[in-house]
Amino acid sequence: MIPAWASERISREVDAVLAAADFAGRNPTLASAIQHIRIWPVYGDLGGTLLLGVDGEVYTQDHNTMEIAPESDLRWRLVAWVSAAERVPELRVLLPPRPTGTPDCQVCRGTGNILIKKHQVGCGVCWGLGWCLEFPH
Ligand SMILES: [Zn+2]
Repeated sequence: MIPAWASERISREVDAVLAAADFAGRNPTLASAIQHIRIWPVYGDLGGTLLLGVDGEVYTQDHNTMEIAPESDLRWRLVAWVSAAERVPELRVLLPPRPTGTPDCQVCRGTGNILIKKHQVGCGVCWGLGWCLEFPH
């Protein structure tokens, strides 16, 4: 569970997405889910879109099937939260705490992003955190 202020903040983002002109026309399945489940699209790549629910749950829309389902992969869940916190910095406090002494990610030098052909993309080593979180195996 996430604090009430965070739910409210995510809820405002959901409303902003829904209010954006022509969104429903471009992706009706997603628009309907955003409205009914109250989820905020925070990250997208060729494979899918990650969405954050007002309750803090992470969902994925698969771009092949267009199906939307809760995301169980911890790395993708982290990417969703890091992306959300990039857009709404208040949410940073809900990211995993960095253990004292954890060095910066060597690939992105602690920025969470790398530059590929003039485009900033999320670091695939630390998943945008800027340091490497130990995932349970
Ligand atoms: Zn990195």
